[in-house]
Amino acid sequence: MRGVKKQDLPSKPCATCGRPFTWRKSLAKTWDDVKYCSDACRRYKQSGGKPPSTKRNDT
Ligand SMILES: [Zn+2]
Repeated sequence: MRGVKKQDLPSKPCATCGRPFTWRKSLAKTWDDVKYCSDACRRYKQSGGKPPSTKRNDT
């Protein structure tokens, strides 16, 4: 039996930055509950600050 190919891993968009992130082994247990691509994005939702890693000029 072959394992799952990397390309076949599930992914979903981050609830903070909207960028898709891919299933990781570290997320296996919590995948259904995971909404954010990174700790920074999770913290953003909890703190209500600005999304990290946006380089847009909003002026
Ligand atoms: Zn994100």
